[in-house]
Amino acid sequence: MTADPSAGSRIDTSRPHPARVYDWLLGGKDNYPVDEEVAAKLPPEARLNAMRNRAFMHRAAAWLAGNGIDQFLDIGTGIPTEPNLHQIVQGIVPSARIAYADNDPIVLRHAEALLVSSPEGSTDYIEADVRKPGTILDHARTFLDFNRPIALSMIALMHFITDDENPYVLTRTLIDALPSGSYFVFSHGTADEHPHLVKSVTTTYRKGEIPLRMRTRAEIEPFFEGLELVAPGLVTATKWYKDSPAPAQEPSGFYVGVARVP
Ligand code: SAH
Repeated sequence: MTADPSAGSRIDTSRPHPARVYDWLLGGKDNYPVDEEVAAKLPPEARLNAMRNRAFMHRAAAWLAGNGIDQFLDIGTGIPTEPNLHQIVQGIVPSARIAYADNDPIVLRHAEALLVSSPEGSTDYIEADVRKPGTILDHARTFLDFNRPIALSMIALMHFITDDENPYVLTRTLIDALPSGSYFVFSHGTADEHPHLVKSVTTTYRKGEIPLRMRTRAEIEPFFEGLELVAPGLVTATKWYKDSPAPAQEPSGFYVGVARVP
């Protein structure tokens, strides 16, 4: 699909939005004063954590593409920040197909940047909510081949889903639709390495009316139930390395993992 011109008129600049707060943290320009108000009040670690989370996405996407995965379904894509997932993947497998999904109209407005695919491959965008996995799957089935392995990536997304919205069930519904040999790429906000920050970060987001549910390692493990975690397993973002050793002592506010669907 192409970017929807009506998305601009649906962008609410009176309230902060997760995608725009995250964009501010990454040093982007696609945010408004209300977003900056939330982002600037977050502890300095938040900025580093956002960049380190994004760097994990780069490494995981490159590893998967290097292992022959050429179809991706990325939910909670965010405002485009180069390199985007498809640029990493198509840099390795030019014919790869990437379907993006996000529920924020500002991401839709920038979707054109996500739709500049390599000529051999293809990218697609759907404005959709992870709380409606059926809608996302229906759309993805028109674009990806569900008889061949797909990497489902949900990076820095599920901490915006509160417990009463059934985050584990939603995730399971999406994973259950994938054929054997597919992969699940996941990152989730945590305060395990900065317990003193949990309150201030959650309160800052909440003041902006963004519900944030950081989870502990024990609460993040069940997202991988029934899957085969690949080495180095469920670790913090700065420890997920395949070919080079992880830089020592770098803390992170995200647990991450890549797992194979048996
Ligand atoms: N995955 C990107 C962006 C993370 S920011 C990265 O890691 O760099 C989180 C993104 O999730 C935002 O773009 C926000 O709009 C999106 N998001 C939040 N709640 C969502 C929901 N219920 N459905 C779909 N996307 C959602």
